[in-house]
Amino acid sequence: MAQLSPLLKQATPVQVARGEGVYLYDHDGRRYLDFTAGIGVTSTGHCHPKVVAAAQQQVATLIHGQYTTVMHQPLLTLTERLSEVLPAGLDSLFYVNSGSEAVEAALRLSRQSTGRQNVVVFQGSFHGRTFGAASLTTSGTKIRAGIGPLVPGVTVAPFPYAYRYGWSEKEAVDFALRELDYLLVTAAPAADIAAFFVEPVLGEGGYVPAPPGFLAGLRERADRHGILLVFDEVQTGFGRTGEFWGHQHFDVEPDILITAKGLASGFPLSAIAASTELMSRGLPGSQGGTYGGNAVACAAAVATLDVILEEGLVENAARTGERLLAGSRRIAADYAAVGDVRGLGLMVASEFVNPDGSPAPEIANRVHRTAADLGLLLLTCGPHGNVVRMIPPLVVDEAQIDQGLELWAKAVSSGLG
Ligand code: PMP
Repeated sequence: MAQLSPLLKQATPVQVARGEGVYLYDHDGRRYLDFTAGIGVTSTGHCHPKVVAAAQQQVATLIHGQYTTVMHQPLLTLTERLSEVLPAGLDSLFYVNSGSEAVEAALRLSRQSTGRQNVVVFQGSFHGRTFGAASLTTSGTKIRAGIGPLVPGVTVAPFPYAYRYGWSEKEAVDFALRELDYLLVTAAPAADIAAFFVEPVLGEGGYVPAPPGFLAGLRERADRHGILLVFDEVQTGFGRTGEFWGHQHFDVEPDILITAKGLASGFPLSAIAASTELMSRGLPGSQGGTYGGNAVACAAAVATLDVILEEGLVENAARTGERLLAGSRRIAADYAAVGDVRGLGLMVASEFVNPDGSPAPEIANRVHRTAADLGLLLLTCGPHGNVVRMIPPLVVDEAQIDQGLELWAKAVSSGLG
């Protein structure tokens, strides 16, 4: 009798039967408030009726219109519709299936289009598990352990994680940019660097929003040295942070934008966006895959975009995210073990520490488990696993945020007790 591989590590013991909005239900009908959203994917909530209807209609019309063989309408419609929300300069889109594959696509394009081989990434970043993406990933050694050698030519520069350094955000940004400049004249010749890859908010690496000035500093250096600036918005895109794209908080635009997760409400779909001029410097036919730009996923993505715009979900993420952040801060004020609470929009996290300030993954795990027992599903993150994050679907309302905070307060209190 076949069984699931022990390679699988599951964050909670819950077995779900169905989902609706911000709730998941197990086989006994027990309801869970889902503040994981399938790791930031089910942006429109579980099984939003409009997404379900669009997918059902597409399933009955055409499931797999293989895009390197024949073109299909959902892909064309999605491309046209995405221009409503993309920065004007990024007028060319290429589709694959997952975040990792889109990172690979961006890596290929950056190398092909610049004729340069090397890249700079930022400490604590997560870009995926395929070998190229894993080579860019430093959010935790489990992604790299035992699988090397990885892709060479990757330099890791500091990310301004102010709390970890015990600095102000400004001090952390000054440090990170100074170290980057130093790397560019020591270990990593600027003229050999194809791209900087960066997340506007470190995701798996601990939910650390880029402090003001950091992305602008990267943009300035990228322009100065002919380096491409790639924003990995797999987790921060599609309204998650309270702007349509995470980078819009910082008024800095990328050369290549990577999107996935929230794009199709749970169907596997990802994309890279860049200018047509940049894309035309890549090699036609060198990118793609059998399932890329799947018709059902594209139809679901169009419906996702409709729902986000019609229901004002970006504004909702900003409003409810502020409430979640403020509430989490109020709860943290009673406990020295919650060293930091931070976030942007509906990416909110609490970092647990020991009395000496060292990371406390045991506490984070206890609180996380207790929350699940109480009916609140959360995820941990950070290199030490000592950060508990909340990523509710963007349809969450204020009452549900308050319900989540109430359960969170109980989980923190009994997890620390
Ligand atoms: N980039 C970022 C910023 C991510 O958060 C993730 C997934 N957590 C990925 C890339 C990889 O995406 P996937 O798991 O779909 O390959």
